[in-house]
Amino acid sequence: MIPFDKKTADEKSLAYIKEALESGAWSGDGPFTKKCVKWFSEQLGTPNVLLTTSCTHALELTGHLADIKEGDEVILPSYTFVSTANPYVLKGAVPVFVDVDPRTMNMDPLCVEEAITERTRAILPVHYGGISCDMDPLCALAEKRGLAVIEDAAQGVQAYYKDRPLGTIGDYGSFSFHGTKNYSCGEGGLVIVKDRQQFERAEIIREKGTNRSRFLRGMIDKYTWVDRGSSYLPSDILAALLLAQLEQWEDIMEKRLNIWNGYHVRLEDLEKQGRIERPFVPGYSRHNGHLYFIKTADIEERSTLIDFLKGRGIATVFHYIPLHSSEFGRKTGRFSGEDKYTTKESERLLRLPLWHGMTEEMVDTVASAIGEFYS
Ligand SMILES: *Cc1c(COP(=O)(O)O)cnc(C)c1O
Repeated sequence: MIPFDKKTADEKSLAYIKEALESGAWSGDGPFTKKCVKWFSEQLGTPNVLLTTSCTHALELTGHLADIKEGDEVILPSYTFVSTANPYVLKGAVPVFVDVDPRTMNMDPLCVEEAITERTRAILPVHYGGISCDMDPLCALAEKRGLAVIEDAAQGVQAYYKDRPLGTIGDYGSFSFHGTKNYSCGEGGLVIVKDRQQFERAEIIREKGTNRSRFLRGMIDKYTWVDRGSSYLPSDILAALLLAQLEQWEDIMEKRLNIWNGYHVRLEDLEKQGRIERPFVPGYSRHNGHLYFIKTADIEERSTLIDFLKGRGIATVFHYIPLHSSEFGRKTGRFSGEDKYTTKESERLLRLPLWHGMTEEMVDTVASAIGEFYS
């Protein structure tokens, strides 16, 4: 049996969790959180990062910072997870969905331009599978029209656009450490804020609207309620688990890329024969091996292939139901322009197993089974 995803506890994770438990400092912003923050600051080249309870909450924080209000519009791909939309819908905004570039499944900058109205406040690029959106045209557009750029880089940790880390290119960025992601602590996230003043406000909102962070840094004598806020701090026990993964990031990345490349090479002939399509990596993107997919001819062929692979003990999955066709998406948002690719392409896409402990042999088994299906 080859599962779609599998997590295993390694020695380092167990040791760090034990250390966190024994220290008795279980709340947020403890020693392990500080180490995670230091690690990301160095990797990303900015001190303006905060650990959060999820990527969803990191995005929620940006909704407060960007002051998204009732009736504002935010532009996002329809082909994404609900968490790209929810944080802004919570603030009363209207999600305006745009079509994707079928080669990357990332938002098409031309569709974004056509979707802008006088109510538009933000553009939300999602870096699908850690393969970056084309950020230069999106940022130029945002600057020209006075819009915020908020990156959903949930899948883009340690991936790059040109030489810039994903999450650091827009005004705000977000990562996810959910169990399904490359580096995970079960549930967790990171928010990246470009502007220093905005970042200081992010610290306050994250800490229940208090200036406790400034107090802990010795900048003020006592802390108090100064702004609206919530509680977006993960426990230091989770940060311990995350740090263990971050310190092994090169190994995790290498294994994932090997699996990704293993599929890519083995499935090349099927693409050349016109039977399937493989992911496309634009020249400006350096990805992180987050996920591997193939595209079948249509939804019927995909269903038959899923069953065929299941019969061989291989688990595969697909996602997403386009948000504009979901029950709540229809109620709260609208699709701008023509749905040329989103629905059609999402129905053809099938994700293959990809996890840290997968062996070369398993990759071979999956690729051979797909080859057999098409012969
Ligand atoms: C996983 C994911 C999220 C949500 O992350 P959480 O940490 O679970 O909140 C948001 N957007 C995308 C594109 C994701 O893949």
